[in-house]
Formats: sequence, structure tokens, C-alpha cells
Amino acid sequence: MAIMEAPANTPVWVNESRCKACDVCVSVCPAGVLAMRPEPKSTLGAMVQIVASESCIGCNDCELSCPDFAIYVADKKEFKFAKLTDESKARSEAIKKNNYRVLGA
Ligand code: SF4
Ligand code: SF4
Repeated sequence: MAIMEAPANTPVWVNESRCKACDVCVSVCPAGVLAMRPEPKSTLGAMVQIVASESCIGCNDCELSCPDFAIYVADKKEFKFAKLTDESKARSEAIKKNNYRVLGA
């Protein structure tokens, strides 16, 4: 597996060539950071999107649950993550109720 170099000042990022659009990372994210966008070129017609990077709490749940090693979280020593807020939790619930899709799309 190719290791992606961590982008600067980014809490969470995706290797889109590995993502199979399974929704798992979106389903486990407690902070509403991730959602699926329509992507006609991908196998399943969708692609994970970072929709609220500033809300990422660095829990690592997305990275640990991705079956395809397609999503990565910055090291806690290198990035100052957010705290979980009511707004983040509400966005997370709204995205889940929206079938994991980007809100308003
Ligand atoms: S590290 Fe946690 S809060 Fe950040 S995107 Fe992944 S699951 Fe969401
Ligand atoms: S869990 Fe992995 S493969 Fe599934 S949507 Fe998220 S990044 Fe893509």
C-alpha cells in the first residue's frame, strides 16, 4: 500500500483512487465532517467528501473503519483538532438522515 504524505494543516484527507464509496466512514464520524457527493466517474456513483474539516476531532474512527485504507487522519502531535460541539453532532445526524449524502445536494 502506498503511504500518502500528510498534507499540511489538514486534519483528514482521502485517497480518492482507493475509495469505494461504501459510506462506512460517514456512518462512524461523530462530528459531521464527512459526506458522500455524487461522482459519476466512481464505481458506485459517489465519492467521500470532507465537508467540515474544521470540526474534525481526530478520533480516527474513519481511518480505522475504512475497509480500503482510503482515508487518513493527521497525527495528534501535528494538528490541533476541534472539540465535539452540538453543531457538529447535529450536522452528523442530519447527514446520516440524508442517506450519508452532502446536505443540500
Ligand atoms: S477523525 Fe473522527 S471526527 Fe475526524 S473525520 Fe474521522 S471520524 Fe470524523
Ligand atoms: S470508508 Fe473508505 S472506502 Fe468507504 S466511503 Fe469512506 S473512504 Fe471511501
